[in-house]
Amino acid sequence: MVLRLYNTLTREKADFAPIDPANVRMYVCGPTVYDFAHIGNARPVIVFDVLYRLLKHLYPGPGKASDGTRVTYVRNITDVDDKINKRARDDFPGLPLNEAIARVTEKTANQFHADVAALGCLEPTVEPRATENIQQMIDLIVQLIAKGHAYVAAGEVLFDTASMPDYGALSNRKLDEQQAGARVEVEAHKKHAGDFVLWKLSSQEEPGWESPWGRGRPGWHIECSAMSERYLGQTFDIHGGGLDLIFPHHENEIAQSRCAHGTKVMANVWMHNGFLQVEGEKMSKSLGNFVTINELLAGWRKYQWPGQVVRLAMLMTHYRQPLDFTLDALEQAAIALAGFKTFESHHQQAMPSFEFMDALSDDLNTPRAIAELHRLAKASRLGMEGLADEMQGQVAQLDSALDTPSAQLAAGLRFLGIDMDGYRRNWMQEGAQTKIAADVKLKVEALIEARKAARQRKDFKESDRIRDELAKMGIALKDTKNKETGEIETTWEVAR
Ligand code: AMP
Ligand code: ZN
Repeated sequence: MVLRLYNTLTREKADFAPIDPANVRMYVCGPTVYDFAHIGNARPVIVFDVLYRLLKHLYPGPGKASDGTRVTYVRNITDVDDKINKRARDDFPGLPLNEAIARVTEKTANQFHADVAALGCLEPTVEPRATENIQQMIDLIVQLIAKGHAYVAAGEVLFDTASMPDYGALSNRKLDEQQAGARVEVEAHKKHAGDFVLWKLSSQEEPGWESPWGRGRPGWHIECSAMSERYLGQTFDIHGGGLDLIFPHHENEIAQSRCAHGTKVMANVWMHNGFLQVEGEKMSKSLGNFVTINELLAGWRKYQWPGQVVRLAMLMTHYRQPLDFTLDALEQAAIALAGFKTFESHHQQAMPSFEFMDALSDDLNTPRAIAELHRLAKASRLGMEGLADEMQGQVAQLDSALDTPSAQLAAGLRFLGIDMDGYRRNWMQEGAQTKIAADVKLKVEALIEARKAARQRKDFKESDRIRDELAKMGIALKDTKNKETGEIETTWEVAR
């Protein structure tokens, strides 16, 4: 099966071919640890976790990655940043700044790890921290200055964007256009408005490291150039992150890495996930719709959402599309998982169906892969029904085969990183989680009653509207006439 990936750099989908099949290398920009991760931050972590799992499957067995496999996944932690300094001053006014910073970054990084583990994400092969790679950053900046791509001005080292003829290729921005359209005044010490900071001096109390340019700290972009080079080399296979990172962050990473190393590309494939909104609105603290992963799992809109439900809800939208995070979508995912729970079997060796793998290999088409899981659940339900009527014993026999719909369903869920054992444990627990399915059931049944009433008063517009509303929740209705009473009876099932 050929993996095809959409590449932001070329703006097309192409077959993926690793530089070294014994070590497939991927870098994804990780969190800046000054605040709890919100559900938007969860999206790239989940999306690239699915890709990591797929790569591990496509490149199995021992290889040259540091963990002995054939895939190296690096996701950094940005633990030096002015936003962190500000947060540290605000939260711990009594402490010396560096101590306060350590408290903020440790607490935030720990929470991030707990959050993404609850969402079913594997740990990356390496998780480097910016503060542990300062010397690598200094070395890169020295090279950039030596090659005429950076200059020192007013206590800063700046990248000279005009020194790179094809600066802007990733985001498709031309330097002249930027110059002409720039509203911001060119800061006096910059040669060019787009020039960006590689290093800046720190005050005595700010975090800082000795360097040829004085005690200071790195700019954000140089961190990823240094850490990706250290763990993946000068050119590697895949670089990922959210859409907002294309410019300036990734553009500047490319400029630094290529100019320092004299290479044609930094990474061959650049992948970007679309943005996430909440109930149709941009997520922001001022709108009051800002949701952290931690809050969502602890209880949001009356439920404690199991991580597995959140993960499935995220994957119901293709990663490059904008994602509208809604209560409806979570409920739909909860209904789907409740259905899958009944029909999946427990074969660890089973493989997902061809259709499922085909969908994932097509630029991670998770909605199509999930539609296939619904098809398998339905097939498995039909299979069980028939057998239950005839020979119960056959069910067990059927269950021992690896290519039954139920075995393929289980394998597909595992492949997406949806841990059904964990889900089952959540499900069994007393408390709000177990109520999700029951509540959804009540909601569906109330809507069916309302539809029945509408039909009785011949308000077909309303009854159709209710049917559509249910369809949007992923519920299909089936009307049958009761032979004895002549009444229409409506049953429902999870559709697709
Ligand atoms: P940050 O900590 O802001 O640098 O973001 C960490 C990662 O989350 C980056 O890959 C961002 O592109 C991504 N990200 C931030 N906000 C959203 C959002 N609303 N939707 C999707 N991805 C996001
Ligand atoms: Zn980065």
